[in-house]
Amino acid sequence: MLSTLRVASRSAAAREANLRMVIGARQASAWSKVPQGPPDAILGITEAFKADSFKEKINLGVGAYRDDKGKPYVLPSVRAAEDKVVASRSDKEYAGITGIPAFTNAAAELAYGSDSAALKEDRLVITQTISGTGALRIGGAFLQRFYPHAKKVYLPNPSWANHGAVFKDSGLEVEKYRYYNKDTIGLDFEGLIEDIKTAPEGSIILLHACAHNPTGVDPTQEQWRKISDVMKEKGHFAFFDMAYQGFASGNADTDAFAPRHFVKEGHNIALCQSFAKNMGLYGERVGAFSLVCESTEEKKFSSVPSTPTPPIHGARVASTIMNDPVLNEQWLGEVKGMADRIIEMRALLRKNLEQLGSKHDWSHITSQIGMFAYTGLKPEQMDVLAQEHSVYATKDGRISVAGITTGNVQRLAESIFKVTG
Ligand code: PMP
Repeated sequence: MLSTLRVASRSAAAREANLRMVIGARQASAWSKVPQGPPDAILGITEAFKADSFKEKINLGVGAYRDDKGKPYVLPSVRAAEDKVVASRSDKEYAGITGIPAFTNAAAELAYGSDSAALKEDRLVITQTISGTGALRIGGAFLQRFYPHAKKVYLPNPSWANHGAVFKDSGLEVEKYRYYNKDTIGLDFEGLIEDIKTAPEGSIILLHACAHNPTGVDPTQEQWRKISDVMKEKGHFAFFDMAYQGFASGNADTDAFAPRHFVKEGHNIALCQSFAKNMGLYGERVGAFSLVCESTEEKKFSSVPSTPTPPIHGARVASTIMNDPVLNEQWLGEVKGMADRIIEMRALLRKNLEQLGSKHDWSHITSQIGMFAYTGLKPEQMDVLAQEHSVYATKDGRISVAGITTGNVQRLAESIFKVTG
């Protein structure tokens, strides 16, 4: 009996010692000093939204399109293209190192326009990427390695939350230029021009091609012309992020005005494209990174880095749409449908707020463009919206207009009215 007890206690001590060793080893492990990443603001909102049992709760946090029933939307053109891809029984061999040429050629034409001098003169290099984020990452790393004039990128203040991290991870320093004026809830154009003028010659300037995230505030075409002129004078490098082509105005050509104008003006731009929003291919991760070169000769040397080798399914779907005139036409109509619904929801929200007798100026709701609206609401007001009205969005006052429907817009307006007085 005694010996059994002794054996038992000895093995308990051995287990404890063992455990201590494991914990010790864990504490001293290679990853023990890794800082915890910041919490995902959108995920937090989604969790709070899910936990709320109120039937009429509204989620305006997620940056993904929803139909007028508040449901995720797969474009009929995407369904049709996907059927074609599946029916073709294609093999699953690797794509080339820069992706599927039929996709990248069509993506370039969509972004730059078929009449683009850069395409006609064969001085564009393009590679398929893991959606828009992958394009930014590859572009950032390429500039960090090869751009001779600067290792710093200037971002608008504010910018899409991931820009800073992606560029820092690419080895670039990050600086801000003035963009948003919180007093006018609009563009700080003078501040922007001043900051671009004072940046050292040859700086890398990141520009949202359209539907600026998070503010929804875009320069006018006139203002883009001026930005292009100032950047040319200073020899700055334009790095365009175009995550919403077609999704902003409903017209893919109108939305591509800025990069196309810059190319016409002789800027050799870099451009990131995403097909997440305009084709609703979020999780398929379809994108492209391109560089306009000075000449075909320069293009030969500028083999851009890529994701070796990018995924094929989403790119085949996008390529099938863009290379089939009938499907392409259908798709452009569907993009317009999404953009129009968003534009209509902006108008309805503003109208409802005005009809309630709100004394505030809500014109920015309709003058801003794209998926997001910067309401001008303060973090405390956003808290009240969530806690007392079950309306969930990020604390910076940004709402995803895609989450508004004809069914919830009135209650949303009433909630905002109560919170803002
Ligand atoms: N840039 C901006 C400004 C965006 O808003 C987004 C999407 N939220 C992206 C890039 C890239 O997204 P994705 O990687 O899903 O294409």
